[in-house]
Amino acid sequence: MYQHCAHPDQQPIDLPVGKVVCVGRNYHAHILELNNALPVEPVLFMKPAAALVPLTDPIALQGHQDCHHEVEVAVLIQSPLQAGATSKSIEAAIYGYGIALDLTRRNKQTTLKQQGLPWERAKAFDGACPLSPIVPKASMDAPEKLDFSLSVNGMTRQIGNTQKMIYPILELITNILEDFRLSPGDVILTGTPEGVAALTPGDELVLALGKQARFNTHVVD
Ligand code: ZN
Repeated sequence: MYQHCAHPDQQPIDLPVGKVVCVGRNYHAHILELNNALPVEPVLFMKPAAALVPLTDPIALQGHQDCHHEVEVAVLIQSPLQAGATSKSIEAAIYGYGIALDLTRRNKQTTLKQQGLPWERAKAFDGACPLSPIVPKASMDAPEKLDFSLSVNGMTRQIGNTQKMIYPILELITNILEDFRLSPGDVILTGTPEGVAALTPGDELVLALGKQARFNTHVVD
């Protein structure tokens, strides 16, 4: 089974790959760019384990021209959590942080939204969640004010800072736990800032997380 991959400077991680719980609208400017309403509670959706692939593998579009990048901070869970968990136990259950792409077939998602249908075909397909190696929390800058970014072909496309989240990480996980328990190996995607756009074969991507972590990948047909 695919295990989560540690940052090259770190010890290997012995955690299986679980589900990915994602938040749809967690940065104001991205909500505005898609003409969405402000959420009254976190908009949650999931990707299955088969969506998780190493970020550094080439991203295959499989002929989809509407596949958007959404760069997001990822949180890897190392111990079980359920409803009622305290902030302290949630912090203890976090193994570390990575950077991910919430790949989204935008035209498909727009159609599904208009029809009031679930988003899985647009967001939960195989390979829909390229995820970087994980940096343990002890080696990370303060996660509550973490810079992250995506550049495509040398141009910055998305810049975020976790301080701008509508639902910060601990509050978000507390909310997730109201309906979904979390298990070791599960991943949380914490939402994307503005600047989402379509990927094209040949694109060269650089994803940055805090001061320490940089990851390169590229897009193929
Ligand atoms: Zn997203």
